[in-house]
Amino acid sequence: MSLTAQTYWAEYAWLDGQVVPDVVIVVATDGRIKAVRPGSPLHPAGSVTLRGLTVPGLANAHSHAFHRALRGIVQAGASARPPDGAAPDSFWTWRKVMYEVAGRLTPDSYFDLARAVYAEMAMAGITCVGEFHYVHHAPGGGRYADPNAMGEALIAAAAEAGIRITLLDTCYLSSGFGKEPDQHQLRFSDGTADAWAERVSALKSDGNTRVGAAIHSVRAVPVDQLATVSGWAEGQAAPLHVHLSEQTAENDACVEAHGFTPTRLLADHGVLGPRTTAVHATHLTPGDIRLLGHSATGVCMCPTTERDLADGIGPAAQLSQAGSPLSLGSDSHAVIDILEEARAMELDERLHTRTRGHWTAAQLLRAATADGHAALGWGADTGRIEVGALADLTTIALDSVRTAGPPARLGAETAIFAATNADVRHTVVGGRHVVRDGAHQLVPRVPEALAGAIAALHG
Ligand SMILES: [Zn+2]
Repeated sequence: MSLTAQTYWAEYAWLDGQVVPDVVIVVATDGRIKAVRPGSPLHPAGSVTLRGLTVPGLANAHSHAFHRALRGIVQAGASARPPDGAAPDSFWTWRKVMYEVAGRLTPDSYFDLARAVYAEMAMAGITCVGEFHYVHHAPGGGRYADPNAMGEALIAAAAEAGIRITLLDTCYLSSGFGKEPDQHQLRFSDGTADAWAERVSALKSDGNTRVGAAIHSVRAVPVDQLATVSGWAEGQAAPLHVHLSEQTAENDACVEAHGFTPTRLLADHGVLGPRTTAVHATHLTPGDIRLLGHSATGVCMCPTTERDLADGIGPAAQLSQAGSPLSLGSDSHAVIDILEEARAMELDERLHTRTRGHWTAAQLLRAATADGHAALGWGADTGRIEVGALADLTTIALDSVRTAGPPARLGAETAIFAATNADVRHTVVGGRHVVRDGAHQLVPRVPEALAGAIAALHG
């Protein structure tokens, strides 16, 4: 990705789980780290200074880019006591608004919005996004001339915003157990899992892009179609993601239709395993937790969305203890702040259990970096600052009004428990300086780009 070699000098860097001062990081022309030299107080000639704590680039393991167009709008009028006996505001009332926006997307308007959203992500220190993508076809279900026009728009948007993407192309075939897609969902459906696989097979990975698979949920993919999707992921050695038990209504409907929980249904059809990431996993039985943990299925928690949608608090600590690696996602983009997602996972657990200290800052940072990349199908050459790794770096200021004061050796604790996206000072992807001193170098005027793209969708 990088065209010229570049040398960075990090005031502090996170190396092998420690805060290390004065670190020279040399990036080769292939965008990989060629040398890491701690204890180098003199800046090499021509080097770029990264002041603050430089950590491996943050991975956002679960995104629906177009949900960014709902920010603020879905909060107006939200009420637990609506007038005239209507249902309280919930995930399901939120989904109605979300479907209206999905109905207006075109390949061009989605590109404009996603480019701006991914630029916002870069400014929040995110160097890789997992896009759980299901708006495939034209309104009403008609095919675009290029049946992957929407997915290609997302891949191009990430490239323009300077971040990596794993396009988790999502199979979505039914409205519920035994129900045809509704009018909104016709855009999402390929008809069959075989047709989904044929379309997805035309998408290509490159240095910036991975193509993965997703099962929207057990309500959206009939049970006899599950093996086709998981088989495709297996054959391609691609990651496989699935929304799991975000809502109790989904659990109840699954038990009614099949006599099993969604987790058990997935397990019985070969969907679980180390290649798979379950997203949310909020409402689980003890047996579900064992099935996920013992199969080493990953779990992506999205705490800011789960609290925004009043979903509940998932059993992240129990899942981790059972054997599930954890990753983090901003999902609906109520906010885009992976540092907030990381601390929210710990703080939610504290509220739930009334005990502290479920994860260290180092463990939360690992979920936000190495384990997030692994969930998105990037190899062991991501999520760490070492020779041979991809040069994806995020620098968090330790001298802002939020982060000044603690000793630098506690930089990880400060970053995870006090910093926000506003403290991200630099983002480097494949050696390229994408965000410099808080300013995006590739997308000008990101707030205006967001406002314009969102206004176009709301008419
Ligand atoms: Zn989601």
